[in-house]
Amino acid sequence: MRIDILTALPALLESYFNDSILLRARKKGLAEVHLHDLRTWSTDKHERIDDYAFGGGAGMVMMVEPIHRAVVHLKEERPYDEVIYMSPDGDLLDQPMANRMSTHTNLMILAGHYKGVDERVREHLISKEISIGNFVLSGGELPAAVLSDALIRLIPGVLNDETSALSDSFQDGLLAPPVYTRPSEYNGWQVPEVLQSGHAARIADWRHQQAVERTRQRRPGLLDKG
Ligand code: SAH
Repeated sequence: MRIDILTALPALLESYFNDSILLRARKKGLAEVHLHDLRTWSTDKHERIDDYAFGGGAGMVMMVEPIHRAVVHLKEERPYDEVIYMSPDGDLLDQPMANRMSTHTNLMILAGHYKGVDERVREHLISKEISIGNFVLSGGELPAAVLSDALIRLIPGVLNDETSALSDSFQDGLLAPPVYTRPSEYNGWQVPEVLQSGHAARIADWRHQQAVERTRQRRPGLLDKG
């Protein structure tokens, strides 16, 4: 998978993609993330990419031209499965959406800033709009990183233990059960006996019951869907 992120602040994202699981994915050749500074495509000598809103009001708006030039440039190099705009009013990101999108080959993600982007960008250049939740952040960089991480960790081979992504919350319509590690007793706090029994079937049963119970308590809506 290749992800191209268009942003006014590429430096914000560099360290994130140069560490841990995402770095490993890149080294294994399973995923690459390319950051593009939108100012590169500005035609203004001050490299401006935002301007005042027509009709007045507070806040700057990202201009259509630099974004258009960036999208055209990248599309000349390869086809994209989706050109995504991260936006609070987009489709809400959830695990089924991440699962579906994790099979894509090339994705472009536009991170907005200020008051957002000129609406003509959304009308003519964007194929999908995604929100990471019903709250407003100051820029689309964190949302773009959230989406990229959710997708890249699903690519087979990225996580060391391939079954690990499958046993995460939401993957089977249930939240994940509790997990423990050594020591088996700390400060008088015990690890459940069954997990130390070595009895695979009992452990699997216990984990399933815990997952169902946790889901009933915290996300009962998931059980209704099943
Ligand atoms: N005025 C806009 C918010 C702009 S926030 C509105 O009210 O809808 C600035 C940028 O941050 C947006 O362009 C978007 O790219 C990003 N952003 C903020 N919150 C987000 C969220 N919950 N999900 C995805 N992107 C978000």
